[in-house]
Amino acid sequence: MLKFNLFSIFIGMFKQFQDTFTFDDVLLVPQKSEILPKDVKIHTYLTREIKLNAPFLSAPMDTVTEHEMAIKMALAGGIGIIHKNLSIDDQVAEIRKVKRFENGFVKNPMTAHPSDPMSKIIQIRNKFGYKKVPIVDNDGVLVGFISDIDYLMLPDNDEHKVLDFMFPVQKMNVGYEGMSLKEAYQMIQKFRLRTLCIVDKNNKLVSIVTRRDLEKSLLYPNSSKDSTKQLLVGGAIGVGINGIERAENLLKAGTDVLIVDTAHGHSRGVIDTVKEIKRKWSGVQVIAGNIASSDAAKDLIDAGVDALKVGIGPGSICTTRIVAGIGVPQLSAIMEVVKGVYNSQRKVPVIADGGIKSSGDVVKALAVGAMSVMMGNMFAGTDESPGRIEYTNGRMYKVYRGMGSIDAMEFGSKDRYGQAEIKEKQKFVPEGVSGRVAYKGSVSTILYQLEGGLRSGFGYNGARNISELQKRAHFVKITGSSLKESHPHDLKEVSSAPNYSID
Ligand code: IMP
Repeated sequence: MLKFNLFSIFIGMFKQFQDTFTFDDVLLVPQKSEILPKDVKIHTYLTREIKLNAPFLSAPMDTVTEHEMAIKMALAGGIGIIHKNLSIDDQVAEIRKVKRFENGFVKNPMTAHPSDPMSKIIQIRNKFGYKKVPIVDNDGVLVGFISDIDYLMLPDNDEHKVLDFMFPVQKMNVGYEGMSLKEAYQMIQKFRLRTLCIVDKNNKLVSIVTRRDLEKSLLYPNSSKDSTKQLLVGGAIGVGINGIERAENLLKAGTDVLIVDTAHGHSRGVIDTVKEIKRKWSGVQVIAGNIASSDAAKDLIDAGVDALKVGIGPGSICTTRIVAGIGVPQLSAIMEVVKGVYNSQRKVPVIADGGIKSSGDVVKALAVGAMSVMMGNMFAGTDESPGRIEYTNGRMYKVYRGMGSIDAMEFGSKDRYGQAEIKEKQKFVPEGVSGRVAYKGSVSTILYQLEGGLRSGFGYNGARNISELQKRAHFVKITGSSLKESHPHDLKEVSSAPNYSID
């Protein structure tokens, strides 16, 4: 039986309140500088082994990151994490779309046989969108090529043989296995090709390279790619057997990093799941979170994580601090976790997750030790975020909701909040809300402004890169009136700027 314990009341009397801070409580003091924003390098490490060219992650939320967002994030040098409020098959399909987006050498391209009917080529175009198809014989030897110009006017059920329409290999410019991507691109430019077929020494088709991919890589020289030139993408998983099953499928689909995505990362379920992933697939990069203390950092590092995600309660849609009374103001949380990493033998990068309202907040998060920043609200409401545009009084909006909101939990994310067993909607205890954000157009504009703000912040600090920023940063605490002074004030009319919202 529970007994009244006077002693525990006394213990409560001696608890101490630690001072903590978040983004709006501090500012960075400008430093002597010779650095121009254009000279700043913003590349970073996402995990111990994965490099990014920009420190931006889009959050695994069902109103933020599916393949379209993940593609744009990777093209800009960051990474998108596909959310898990999807069936495993659907999440796998999203990952595959990102990995296929920009191939260098496209291995095992879809092919046809010379004796196939033309309807097969038309089917490939209609079903998969591939308008150009290499033609191979029974042994896989390249014998020709067919492109949409060759069959523009044919009906869908045309039964003519491919042989009658294809461009024969004797007239083609073909690349050879072992050539570099650069050499392949040079051939594409020299012979004005749309697609270059690559064959081995027995003339068997091994891959193709397309002009479209060449153009894309010229447009996005800083995109984050893996060793085979495919865009980077991450996938969120939960804990336990279900999490491991999901992880296995995501890995098969080519995900570059797994994120064990929970509201309370310092818990048995997360620690055991990280250990199990590392036991099964030791080389796989795993991020876990969310946490806010140095003890949590130490325990997860001991379990084998390759990066830590920080943030208990800072999210714009989060009500954890109100519902559970739990949380740590975000800048202090990042500093605590960084301290835990510093005191551990195995060092891992820290990701600041949630609460970012502006590029200035990103600079502050990096300055206190984070190596990258995850955002939800910042990227919600864009063309690339899932969901439709809604119109109210002539203004455009898109839904943005917490994964712990009733709406999202009903859809499947209840396990993130330890409520997987609850079946009835009325019994959920939500730790998030659902709302709308103004429609913002393409996420590329936002990423451009974020990067610009970051470069500017580094410039003011005289920092060439993230590690110099962290060494040089000098903060001051500010008051409420200083914060008021920081925002535009004393104007009759304010028109918003692309990087400053007045909503
Ligand atoms: P934001 O960028 O401030 O909108 O915060 C996004 C982050 O909030 C996500 O990356 C998650 O870590 C966190 N988050 C997502 N959904 C919820 C929720 O329902 N409650 C609490 N935190 C959430």
